[in-house]
Amino acid sequence: MPVYTVNDKSPQDFSDWMTKWTCQAGFSLIMPRELLQPNTAELKKLSVASRTGLDEEASFIIQFKSTRLKHAVSGDLLAVYPKNDHRERLYSIGKIEENIQLSVKLHEHGLGSGFLNNLQHGDTIKAKLVKNQHFRFPGKAKKSSWYPTERALRPS
Ligand SMILES: Cc1cc2nc3c(=O)[nH]c(=O)nc-3n(C[C@H](O)[C@H](O)[C@H](O)COP(=O)(O)OP(=O)(O)OC[C@H]3O[C@@H](n4cnc5c(N)ncnc54)[C@H](O)[C@@H]3O)c2cc1C
Repeated sequence: MPVYTVNDKSPQDFSDWMTKWTCQAGFSLIMPRELLQPNTAELKKLSVASRTGLDEEASFIIQFKSTRLKHAVSGDLLAVYPKNDHRERLYSIGKIEENIQLSVKLHEHGLGSGFLNNLQHGDTIKAKLVKNQHFRFPGKAKKSSWYPTERALRPS
């Protein structure tokens, strides 16, 4: 079969490919249920604690209260689902005091970055913590005394 592309983890695209492939291969497979429906059990409600405006590179910093994601540490990932479907976007977490901070580049027509950029203080989203063990700050490293985020979040 020719190369077949699956757009944005689309279950429909995957299912279409599976049907064509199994027809050709001469046997049948059942599409796993969990691929058709996003697993909402792991989603936690987070509220926006603060955010900056866009800087000259169309980037912004957004902080969420982390009471529902206490185990998150810097280097872990936050998975957001802008349309409450299979489309997932990942963002690196910085744990700043008790908040979860994301540093986001806004992409023109970007689904995830546009969704985050539309959030204001007090808004809530549902998101999932993705542990990223190998991307964490080494336990023995020196602590920096300079926090760029404090400067970035200071009201001008
Ligand atoms: C492990 C990991 C960690 C990450 N951490 C971060 C992070 O900390 N910060 C961060 O900013 N990003 C991070 N990313 C990237 C992030 O997950 C998204 O990929 C990014 O925000 C773009 O997603 P989007 O939904 O905004 O854009 P998409 O909707 O996926 O669009 C992708 C591109 O297509 C273009 N596009 C979309 N629609 C159209 C259209 N109709 N016409 C023309 N062009 C179009 C967009 O401009 C964009 O350039 C991370 C990714 C991974 C895998």
